[in-house]
Amino acid sequence: ARTFFVGGNFKLNGSKKLIHEIVERLNESKLDSNAEVVICPPATFIDYTASINKKSPQVQVGGQNTYTKASGAYTGENSVTMLKEVGADWVILGHSERRAYFKETSEEIAEKTKFAIDNGLKVILCIGELLEERKAGITLDVCKKQLEPVLAKLSAQDWDKVVIAYEPVWAIGTGLAATPADAQDTHKEIRDYLKEKLGESKAESIRILYGGSANGANASTFKDKVDIDGFLVGGASLKPEFVDIINSRS
Ligand code: 13P
Repeated sequence: ARTFFVGGNFKLNGSKKLIHEIVERLNESKLDSNAEVVICPPATFIDYTASINKKSPQVQVGGQNTYTKASGAYTGENSVTMLKEVGADWVILGHSERRAYFKETSEEIAEKTKFAIDNGLKVILCIGELLEERKAGITLDVCKKQLEPVLAKLSAQDWDKVVIAYEPVWAIGTGLAATPADAQDTHKEIRDYLKEKLGESKAESIRILYGGSANGANASTFKDKVDIDGFLVGGASLKPEFVDIINSRS
């Protein structure tokens, strides 16, 4: 069975004060012991977040981006080793905001994914279609194209270090989450594609998270969907309801 996974993507939000509040809430809350939780603050706060987290290893810390070089003249970047040194075990890669605003290509994202895994970080790999693409009926093609270069670069064992976050772009930050049934359909199609590429047992072991307006009220409605293994949460990860999402399967 795949362990239920809840990621919190704080995006470009927060302050030391807010992060203190969020981490203290997790420290003090009763969390479903069957849930794995990864909180991803801005890189500047990873060190602080990890230092006040009392729920390790159940609650882990992640970055929101990294680079494909270990060190050197790459102004503004954060390396995998640096993220690890300050307490990250995970990194989010390929988020739709990085694809849209920072023009990251699926090839670059694949390269980052391989480099991160080779250097000891686990990866939350984000994929998902735009509204136009959903309307055009090409959701699965888009997801496959985003996964293809990653599949080309990663070994079978590398996939043990990856969770996929399916985040339809039209659902992110809109308050309009995909219905559990629609999300399940796409998750199943993604898993079927992984089966083709990686074989049945590997594909069955990979967690596929849903992301896009997941919140404390709707999380439990995804509970009985067999291919939905957790959530990647944006806005609601900054709020008390994040605990309800973590506990939505218990
Ligand atoms: P929201 O939960 O705010 O819609 O964001 C989802 C997301 O992009 C998580 O990576």
